[in-house]
Amino acid sequence: MNSFSTIVSEATSTQWNDWRWQLKNAARSVEDLKTWGFVDRLASQDLLTPQALFNQKLTERYKTLITPYYLSLIDQNDPLCPIKKQAIPHLDELLETQGELTDPIGDQAHSPHPMLVHRYPDRALLFPTFECPMYCRYCFRKETLNESKIKLHQDLPKALSYIRSQEQLEEIILSGGDPLMLSTAKLTKLFIGLKQAGVSRLRMHSRMLVTLPQRITSDLLQLFNEYQEDLNLKLITHFNHPQELSPETKKATKALLSTGLRIFNQSVLLKDVNNTPQILAQLSKGLDQLGITPYYLHHTDLTRGTQHFRCSIDEGIRIYQALRGQISGYLIPRYVIEIPRGGGKVEVTSHAVRKGKQEGEWILTSPLDFKDYDYKDLAHKS
Ligand code: SF4
Repeated sequence: MNSFSTIVSEATSTQWNDWRWQLKNAARSVEDLKTWGFVDRLASQDLLTPQALFNQKLTERYKTLITPYYLSLIDQNDPLCPIKKQAIPHLDELLETQGELTDPIGDQAHSPHPMLVHRYPDRALLFPTFECPMYCRYCFRKETLNESKIKLHQDLPKALSYIRSQEQLEEIILSGGDPLMLSTAKLTKLFIGLKQAGVSRLRMHSRMLVTLPQRITSDLLQLFNEYQEDLNLKLITHFNHPQELSPETKKATKALLSTGLRIFNQSVLLKDVNNTPQILAQLSKGLDQLGITPYYLHHTDLTRGTQHFRCSIDEGIRIYQALRGQISGYLIPRYVIEIPRGGGKVEVTSHAVRKGKQEGEWILTSPLDFKDYDYKDLAHKS
């Protein structure tokens, strides 16, 4: 296998700007990353198991894929690079903390079909794929991404017939996986099916602008242009750090906005990635310059093997309050937490989130059934 610098230097500009070339040349295992120099000695020293066993176990449990583009954003001289922490597998993913869950936000409890999650009456999630252009190490669906496979041809008709049967359902949110991993031809068929099923608002949750902006091709832009009015399209992207706002990203965002698409951003509060008000302020200002609206800041979910990404709720509140003093109100995303096991989303600084009797315990009131749910903060330090 070639070294990473050889791959980058030998790529022609046409190849580099081709999303399929990026995927073909992506790192797909810890071994690839080691060969390319992205798993460093610092990480190796932390290992509790022999290196080979670690690689095998981690690769078996969680998918790995990182495009050369996203790898090129890593500062290899910075052992604490925030891009690296999001992308490169780490031994800590094999550690389990009591209270962590394999289905942290309770998708399964609200799933009438393998492609659907219907939690709120007027909107539902539709998963057209469980493939991503990069597997983020903190992802709350990392277990699903590893295990589930969608056969679009076979599964979509039943999912569409469910959507048609639900009178209150107005909005579909394409999630997964990254829906823009589908070819434009498949997306076109999907858009047609959703329009025929009576969907009037379509949201796409995609990290392509961050991890593979080369996917924003002219045929994709044409598709968005065509369906903008019928499906009231919106893109929810997922930048976590200002270092992700590259020239490629800026160009792709500009092209997307020219189709009339509205773009919002959701970030996750991640320890040693963006857990300071300064980084979050810089991110919001950078997004605003591109024309992207900061929308949500998610508290890290209780996903298995993600303790090394978790901040306590107390820390999150301190950071969020400090953010208020640093930037204008319209640049501040809503700081939200998902109630485990499917209770829905609540704003951390609202009355729906209150301290419990014991240190590190919280009570979250669900917006769905208005019941109180106990929540244990796994990162709480007394
Ligand atoms: S792109 Fe989204 S769904 Fe895919 S791994 Fe990252 S956070 Fe998870």
